[in-house]
Amino acid sequence: MSLPSLADAAATCAACPKACRFSCPVSEATQNEALSAWGKMSVAHLVVTGARPLDAEAAAAVHACTGCGRCTSFCAHENTPGASLFAARQQVVAAGLQPRGAASTLATFQQAQNPFGHELGSLVASWRAQRPVRYPLFPGCSSLVKRPALLEQTLTVAEAFGAPMGVAKAASKCCGYPLYAAGAFDAFTAHARAVADVFVETPEVAVLDAGCAFTFRVLYPRFGVSLPTRMRTVVEVLFDNLPHAPNRPPLPERVGYHDACHLGRGLGLYDEPRALLARAVTAVVEAPSMRREAGCSGGGGLLPRTMVETSVEIARRQAAEIVDDPGVAVVSACPTSTRMFERAGRRASDLLSLLERWVTQS
Ligand code: SF4
Ligand code: SF4
Repeated sequence: MSLPSLADAAATCAACPKACRFSCPVSEATQNEALSAWGKMSVAHLVVTGARPLDAEAAAAVHACTGCGRCTSFCAHENTPGASLFAARQQVVAAGLQPRGAASTLATFQQAQNPFGHELGSLVASWRAQRPVRYPLFPGCSSLVKRPALLEQTLTVAEAFGAPMGVAKAASKCCGYPLYAAGAFDAFTAHARAVADVFVETPEVAVLDAGCAFTFRVLYPRFGVSLPTRMRTVVEVLFDNLPHAPNRPPLPERVGYHDACHLGRGLGLYDEPRALLARAVTAVVEAPSMRREAGCSGGGGLLPRTMVETSVEIARRQAAEIVDDPGVAVVSACPTSTRMFERAGRRASDLLSLLERWVTQS
């Protein structure tokens, strides 16, 4: 996002009577109106107009955002504070004022080309990448590094749905979202171009992580990078193949469903995960605010690294909003959200893990 558009968006919010004040998960979790979309954008406005200096306090304010986009759902101007606050982080990087968690993420990424500091090529190779399969799978480095069981479960479900998948060799590349969220926009653009080169011989990919899919489909074009590959989420591929799913009874379970921000508001995928879930269990409960108005799990925008306790509190509140009974699992089609709910001490399951239990039940 260019600086003038940040200036316009920040000016719009600064002049607003805080119409979306109730919507921001960071503000709600901290009980601090200064961290509402209005409050943070007002800080950005003052910095952009030179009315206040860019100091550590202002840097912290523009980092107090998950990029969930919930404020936009309640904005008559369709303003996008999430994207604007990430854009404002560019100036924070330039001034050397990044919060510690964001700075360390950026440093790790610059060294290892992913936020975990792992060498992803050998991990991908262990999944026998490049076997000929109908759908090459891009799991996302988070699941690749932290949730190998989720990959196994995804492959099992895909096979059962008649849509066999195998980990793609290109999965050794991170999508680059952490660079975007850190405000390292030039590095993000360069990384995206390098990723596009890796995908050049792959016509279609199934993407497991909603954040990666959002990055490929929404952010890359926004930064002028076009991919040669059709990027579909695993949820979409399975939804299309639902007629071929095994004829099994639903598991006799009641679960809560969480609309992950990147999957829902980001990609508009609301019905598809619900259709899959409806086949797998007998009862699904939802929060009063759902779909485009759904709450956030606190996992985006580097918040788990810059405001650790707040991010977990956001997840705790969102899980309770969906279903107050801690014995009922919260299900999400986003591995990051599932992990956040677990960190908040809730029973949680990824949609793919639940589907795997459904298709393999005896
Ligand atoms: S996002 Fe929209 S509703 Fe919220 S403060 Fe900005 S202009 Fe107002
Ligand atoms: S994008 Fe989400 S976290 Fe960021 S200001 Fe808007 S509601 Fe708050």
